[in-house]
Amino acid sequence: MKKIYEGKAKVLYQLEDPETILMVFTNQATALNGKRKEDIAGKAILNTQISTLIFEWLESVGIATQLIKKIDDDRQVVKRLEMIPLEVVVRNRVAGSFAKRFGLEEGGVLSKPTVEFFLKDDELDDPFVNVSQLTSLNKITEEECQTISDLALKINDKLIQLFDEAGLILVDIKFEFGKDSSGNIILGDEISPDNCRLWDKVTEEKLDKDRFRRHLGSLTDAYEEVSKRLDAVIAHQK
Ligand code: UDP
Repeated sequence: MKKIYEGKAKVLYQLEDPETILMVFTNQATALNGKRKEDIAGKAILNTQISTLIFEWLESVGIATQLIKKIDDDRQVVKRLEMIPLEVVVRNRVAGSFAKRFGLEEGGVLSKPTVEFFLKDDELDDPFVNVSQLTSLNKITEEECQTISDLALKINDKLIQLFDEAGLILVDIKFEFGKDSSGNIILGDEISPDNCRLWDKVTEEKLDKDRFRRHLGSLTDAYEEVSKRLDAVIAHQK
């Protein structure tokens, strides 16, 4: 199989059918934009489980995703997308770089969710970029920005409810989008506690990658808990 992309947490291979890709999750956890790296046994399997659960659930509520199916503990077959090189962050509460940039305490509830774009570029440390800059640089059209922003907010709304039922607060989340062969913009990549912040509703315990970033205890125990709770909520809905 031809390797077509090797990222920090995933490797992609071209499958025989040119419209499909094999997405293999890895155990690697990174922080400080890849400067700190560690292999965490069990992370790949947990993220595959969680991301599959969430993408299948999103499909069931009418959101198109890249996922075709999970085929193994740490593998998914996904649709080939032309990925848009943006990290689209939606925030419901103050945390992380947003807290730092505006000198705010973590945890404050925003009066409405906010969307931010970061250019996906490791060498530049994924710089913040606004719509005017993106369109002037011909990275993307204004209309595409609007579509992505609307879609990100819509998915965020749905996920707030799903996580709430699982006793979790969705603090913030990063999405990646791509275009399918018909030119439709759809949700790609993964959704797992690696790329969103999830706090327990009662204790506000962090159950996401901040445990790794900030040395707050076992990552896999927390991911296991998230997986278990989502599984129970989704099974109950069926
Ligand atoms: N995030 C991500 N990949 C990145 C940067 C951020 O998935 O390269 C996620 C992160 O997990 C969080 C959200 O995007 O859920 C907002 O991250 P933030 O900008 O606060 O940056 P951080 O504090 O993680 O550096």
